[in-house]
Amino acid sequence: MADPAGRAECVIWFRRDLRLADQAAVQAAVAGGRRVVGLFVLEAPAGPWAPGAASRWWLHHSLAALAGALAARGGTLVLRRGAPAAIVPALAAEVGATAVHALEGFEPHEQASQRAVAAALAERGVALLLHPGALLTDPRRLRTQSGGAFSVYTPFARAAFASLPPLPDVPAPRRVPAPERPPPSEPLESWALLPRRPDWSGGLRAAWTPGEAGAAARLSAFLAGALARYGAQRDVPGAAGTSRLSPHLHWGEISPRQVWNAAAASGAGAGLASFQRELLWREFSAYLLFHHPDLPERPLRPEFASFPWVEERSGLAAWRHGRTGVPIVDAGMRELWQSGWMHNRVRMIVASYLVKHLLVPWQEGEAWFWDTLVDADLAANAASWQWVAGCGADAAPYFRIFNPVLQGRKFDPDGAYVRRFVPELAALPDALLHAPWEAPPLALAEAGVRLGGSYPRPLIDLAAGRARALASFASLSGSDA
Ligand code: FAD
Repeated sequence: MADPAGRAECVIWFRRDLRLADQAAVQAAVAGGRRVVGLFVLEAPAGPWAPGAASRWWLHHSLAALAGALAARGGTLVLRRGAPAAIVPALAAEVGATAVHALEGFEPHEQASQRAVAAALAERGVALLLHPGALLTDPRRLRTQSGGAFSVYTPFARAAFASLPPLPDVPAPRRVPAPERPPPSEPLESWALLPRRPDWSGGLRAAWTPGEAGAAARLSAFLAGALARYGAQRDVPGAAGTSRLSPHLHWGEISPRQVWNAAAASGAGAGLASFQRELLWREFSAYLLFHHPDLPERPLRPEFASFPWVEERSGLAAWRHGRTGVPIVDAGMRELWQSGWMHNRVRMIVASYLVKHLLVPWQEGEAWFWDTLVDADLAANAASWQWVAGCGADAAPYFRIFNPVLQGRKFDPDGAYVRRFVPELAALPDALLHAPWEAPPLALAEAGVRLGGSYPRPLIDLAAGRARALASFASLSGSDA
């Protein structure tokens, strides 16, 4: 029996919803002034797709921010490590709670975990109450006219739009009352979520402010600035043309409904529809993962299971470290390493280069992104890699192979992006910047560039790489090349 000073009527089980505003589980739990305890469980042993290094860094700071926000409202956050199906019922029993509130998660692992926790709680007569809020749409509800699951973005987005706009979002409660004597929590530091390489996390710290307040500040800045120009600038990596809300959305520090409503209310005209389409790509990715739980591992188009990959380890290593000799690819990979994020256009370019020019399996790129992106998201990452590799739903046809030089010239015409992340090429004129191997020796010398010395020669000849990729694709049975 719980000690009266330690009693709470409800537990709020936080997962990827680390906020207090527009958080239906928090709202429901505190209704009527009930005493509650917040709980976050770090899964141990870690399952497949446990957070990578950049995500763990983010999680550390986001949990600290959530604990602070709860404390400011009289609340408490309990940290425990183990299997949720054991920890959640144990804490509920410890505080004498009759209900556990959580936002419903739609990833396969989240769904399985919810089922296991609900069953374990039910044995003790405690209810698990799941609330909506992780997505704008319910992946179970949106269906094609024949009742099947969508596999193409455009009809999905049309159906999603028809179910929107969402209801108004809800502010954070003023008080989140905790028991007089809150249950013990494991110290956050004991989880060792921060990387052992402080030089790496320094870049993350400079670029990001994890937590709900950081998310709100990021949204305000976007609404006041880039949103109006979003349609025109979202593809320009050298401009701050996108919201950079992805890690905040991934960890649920801001709800997609808050973002949608705030953008719609901002009167942003031209940029708005285009921004909303991107928010619906997030919904579509989550939808695909819900309906295809093996999306992160297996190609949606089965003929790709026998794709003749080359798996050159040296190519993969050069790609990871931004040393391929192709400036836009190297700039993207270095942006990723330095800040834990990469511009969407460049993600497409580096991914295409890896899976097509280097013929490295898309799962290798997916895994590196998983470890290094602060916004690493199982659904968006898997769906996007499959899209680029040509094996996903609604994928770009395999034979449409990005030419990274032309992409660089088109989307980084003044070289601002490449110069920022590949400073050893900065003095080259714009016309030569995206293909330094084509530069006359004198121009290289004047810019202080030594190919094979200060900057690598290209790992492969782009035309030959393209031809090899097309030949590999043609060898697939069932390909439409
Ligand atoms: P904005 O342009 O401001 O868009 C607003 C929001 O919409 C984003 O924050 C994001 O939540 C969502 N969004 C935008 N584009 C996409 C998209 N193509 N697919 C799904 N959601 C989208 N996004 C992730 O959040 N996590 C990932 O792990 C991830 N991996 C990717 C891997 C590859 C190979 C590619 C090509 C794309 C990947 N994306 C991923 C999608 C996209 O690149 C990022 O969501 C976007 O760059 C985030 O920047 P932003 O917040 O400024 O986006």
